[in-house]
Amino acid sequence: MSLLEIKNCTICYQNGRPAVSEVSLSVSEGEIVSIVGESGSGKTTLIRAVLGLLPPGGKITEGQILFNGKDLVKASEQEMQDIRGREIAMIFQDVGAALDPIQRISRQYGEAIAVHEKLPRQEYRKRAVSMLKRMHLTDTERVMDSYPFELSGGMKQRVGIAMGMNAQPKLLLADEPTSALDVTIQAQVVHEMKQLREKYGTTIILVTHNMGVASYLSDKIGVMCQSRMVEFGSRDEIIYHPKEPYTQKLLEAVPKLGGRRFAK
Ligand code: ADP
Ligand code: MG
Repeated sequence: MSLLEIKNCTICYQNGRPAVSEVSLSVSEGEIVSIVGESGSGKTTLIRAVLGLLPPGGKITEGQILFNGKDLVKASEQEMQDIRGREIAMIFQDVGAALDPIQRISRQYGEAIAVHEKLPRQEYRKRAVSMLKRMHLTDTERVMDSYPFELSGGMKQRVGIAMGMNAQPKLLLADEPTSALDVTIQAQVVHEMKQLREKYGTTIILVTHNMGVASYLSDKIGVMCQSRMVEFGSRDEIIYHPKEPYTQKLLEAVPKLGGRRFAK
């Protein structure tokens, strides 16, 4: 059975065209799926719907979102709260900017991990510091004791990503988490996401407009264009045998290195 199965899902904002039209996709446990596509194609709307956190005015008008066979579209707010954090976590695009400005990082970190499991303070701090190091942050003890305003934008973003990863959900949704980071740090963060799957079997859905990242990381890739999922298939199908002209265009935009666009 799929861990997540989205069936024929349509999502609208007030009096607009659908932001997501009749989208279907399935994700098995332990898979990494990337969703790519131009800005405004509905990627963020789709993954926010999985978490039951659409922006005001957003509504699922048709379809099902089955998580472990349970339809989240019909779930109550209480049921969704139980699922959020514990089973499904999300790293928002601006996760760094969304940190609570009046609480130290250590406190927020503790809360993020505590949703999942009760740990002694020293243990979660150890885990947090280790994850922050893997995000290429230095002086991690100081970072833990800082308030958000004491950190740069890139540092905050990496703290937010680390918090999402440390929560060890079954399903991790990540919305362009690395777009604002330097290329080398971006590569490291993406590598750590892959590690998360290797170590804990975490299922990951990543929204990215970087085809190189999608190719490196994913088992499956979904391509969105103007609210529709125009193509969804295995990584190799999409990278080497794309059917849609739109997918071909995205792939051709990736620069070649040594005669090749993508490593095997
Ligand atoms: P993407 O993440 O692929 O850039 P989005 O899901 O953010 O796309 O947006 C899909 C469509 O929904 C766009 O047409 C966008 O203008 C619209 N949209 C997104 N968020 C809102 C919102 N909060 N209110 C109204 N329309 C929105
Ligand atoms: Mg988006």
